[in-house]
Amino acid sequence: METFEVKAYGAQSVEAPLKQLNIVRREATPVDVEIDILYCGVCHSDLHTAKNDWGGTVYPAVPGHEIVGRVTKVGSGVTKFKVGDLAAVGCMVDSCRECASCKQDLEQYCIPGFTGTYNGHDKHLGTRTYGGYSEKVVVDEHFVLRVPEHLDPAATAPLLCAGITTWSPLRHWNVGEGSNVAIVGLGGLGHMAIKLAKALGANVTLFSRSPGKEKDALELGADAVVISTDKGQMSGAKGKFDLIIDTVPYVHDVNHYIPSLNINGTLVLVGYLGGLEPVLNSVPMIMGRKSVAGSVIGGIAETQEMLDFCGEHNIVSEVEVIKMQDINEAYERMLKSDVRYRFVIDMGSLKN
Ligand code: NAP
Ligand code: ZN
Ligand code: ZN
Repeated sequence: METFEVKAYGAQSVEAPLKQLNIVRREATPVDVEIDILYCGVCHSDLHTAKNDWGGTVYPAVPGHEIVGRVTKVGSGVTKFKVGDLAAVGCMVDSCRECASCKQDLEQYCIPGFTGTYNGHDKHLGTRTYGGYSEKVVVDEHFVLRVPEHLDPAATAPLLCAGITTWSPLRHWNVGEGSNVAIVGLGGLGHMAIKLAKALGANVTLFSRSPGKEKDALELGADAVVISTDKGQMSGAKGKFDLIIDTVPYVHDVNHYIPSLNINGTLVLVGYLGGLEPVLNSVPMIMGRKSVAGSVIGGIAETQEMLDFCGEHNIVSEVEVIKMQDINEAYERMLKSDVRYRFVIDMGSLKN
């Protein structure tokens, strides 16, 4: 298979800061789209992967799965894209396309497993997949999304992960006019969840540990903010919510939020991946027919639906645009929740 080299930024080991390196991309096959990357969002999952928080990172690791760019080449069989189009790639670049999940447009739940945009198994090259902290990416057109041309491309990039990861549970749990929704954590995912839930017609509350974020949350569209460390405010929220989307990246006490679910309410975990500590107490769940669930990103058709919805409602992310060379500092700031509300890398900076 023919290949070419591009510049990228990645981690060479768990301790090493990210730095410039070269990676190989395949020449577009008949079904592929080659994209010149303009912007790439910085997701907390990028940091988890670079730091091997989940285990399984193979180095060098090139993160980045909130990709927006211009199409520079298309394979002979590509029908959805032409050279010059704005296009986007999210968290998946492949899946089996044959299993029951894939057949229902649920590629994110592909039974043999989807291929992640980074740190996945690249079936073409036999290497790991490398993400969007790079000049170009080559992806099967099925996994490439159309981007509304009138949206700011830098602020659109985070929709490809933060947007779809919160859109999918909002849709699955039928959030609409008058639903009562709460979001835990105001970061990249959290701020998109507020905007999307509001646009769907819900009453939206933010649970945050950070009193300084109240004003921002209200400006983003939240109707109320509950400081999760304040006992009085927490008991005032009892029994209120049909759906809680919990975006906290690290282990935390999920039991703390269950009393604020209404009967039949669901708390859906999208952030922390792993065993819960302290363990879940079933009593309030059983006594109120409440559920704790999980959700991962969203399918390709659902991602397109979300992008089209954002186009109609002029919804984009709140972003701080950085240079590729600033990524290590951005990770430090992300760990301190010091980002309003998504870093996005201007990939032009890698060309210099
Ligand atoms: P982020 O921008 O860092 O935001 C996380 C927010 O959680 C923070 O702003 C903070 O909000 C709160 N928080 C952080 N540490 C906390 C702690 N120790 N205890 C309580 N609250 C804490 O991260 P993100 O990019 O939104 O990602 C959030 C998580 O979702 C990450 O773990 C990421 O890997 C995961 N993720 C999952 C999927 C999926 O498909 N399920 C997709 C993308 C990302 P406050 O200051 O308001 O409390
Ligand atoms: Zn992500
Ligand atoms: Zn499949």
